[in-house]
Amino acid sequence: MSDLATLYERNAAFAAGFDQGDLPIKPGLSTLILTCVDARVDPAHYAGLDLGDALTLRNVGARVTDAVGLEVAMLWALMSMASGTTPEIELVIIQHTQCGMARFALPEVAEKVTARFGTSAVVETYGIPDLNETLAGDVERLRSNPTVPRELKVSGHIYDIATGRLSEVVSTQTLG
Ligand SMILES: [Zn+2]
Repeated sequence: MSDLATLYERNAAFAAGFDQGDLPIKPGLSTLILTCVDARVDPAHYAGLDLGDALTLRNVGARVTDAVGLEVAMLWALMSMASGTTPEIELVIIQHTQCGMARFALPEVAEKVTARFGTSAVVETYGIPDLNETLAGDVERLRSNPTVPRELKVSGHIYDIATGRLSEVVSTQTLG
């Protein structure tokens, strides 16, 4: 059964009261959030984002992958070209408790995932054995990716599913 009709019903209600059709493409906050696809961790809710506030990337686990590195570099290039100056943007990586990617890192699950995909790369890229270590490691992934500008500011945070609270694990730093 598809829930597509539900989405359209909700969109009709949204569009009926819509009055923000003239928002600029430049976001209101100098923040690029990387967060998980998990339905419980939508930054519009936990960070109070409104339309036009912030750039948001989401992937499984909020992990820094090669694709994320490329997308960050592309956004940086677009903003540089649009403004003619160094972009004022901070990448805010937000991983979370109870993430499915923590399960990926459990030895018995990791073994099954590796067998299913025929490679250990999936678990190595996405598995989260320890949130603090993974966040620190993801900042280093960015640092070791030559595509990503050295001037980029980045920080790492945990969102707690049980309390709704954010906490900082890796303080803001540039990659250079
Ligand atoms: Zn997750």
